[in-house]
Amino acid sequence: MSVALFGGTFDPVHNGHLRIASELAELLPVNELRMMPCGFPPHRDDTEVSAHQRLEMLELGIGVNNSILSVEDIELQRPAPSYSIDTVTFMREKLGSSTPLFLCVGMDALATINTWRHWKELLSFCHIAVSSRPGFSAPKQGPLCEWIAQHESDNLNEIKKCPSGYIYFCDLTMLAISSTTIRDKIKQGSSIRYMTPEPVVNYIQQHRLYE
Ligand code: ATP
Repeated sequence: MSVALFGGTFDPVHNGHLRIASELAELLPVNELRMMPCGFPPHRDDTEVSAHQRLEMLELGIGVNNSILSVEDIELQRPAPSYSIDTVTFMREKLGSSTPLFLCVGMDALATINTWRHWKELLSFCHIAVSSRPGFSAPKQGPLCEWIAQHESDNLNEIKKCPSGYIYFCDLTMLAISSTTIRDKIKQGSSIRYMTPEPVVNYIQQHRLYE
């Protein structure tokens, strides 16, 4: 069972996340894509709502009858900051040595991946699938650029034969939605309908989140 992990704060989950997750699940040679909320994000300030509420919204957003997308809560179970290297090490132990594992990151994240803990070791445990994000591009020079060049492949047939080790760039549909916009709209008293699935809108209203 090959797996893709799509991490994020999901504060709250929105249609941009869900659209990109569905496209990744179709594009990558995986059986399932797990959306993985981070616990205490090492690169961001603490979030406005509890981890449990972010998880519940994610479950509502994905819906119960989704055979491809699911939730992975391992980063919420750890008290320490969510370091990706710890996550993929743990996942590799669970999946065994031969199952392909993909860590999906946005181009914004790739551009600073060399600040992540033990970043060069990530590819020993997983592939990295990079989705484009307007305003961000891969570095054109320096150690990060060289590392990418060493590991990049556009051949999914080649990639799927290996459990880890490749960087793959995906061209996907970006919707002009962010969690920040949703939080701002709620603060302004504006509607967030159609920016995130209706059960998530209802949950936010019921719990008076982000007001
Ligand atoms: P915030 O506005 O709070 O920074 P965000 O909307 O960027 O949040 P995150 O939870 O930080 O959402 O993002 C998780 C992942 O989803 C990242 O890899 C990010 O690149 C991607 N992502 C976020 N918004 C979109 C979008 N509209 N379309 C596609 N991918 C997105």
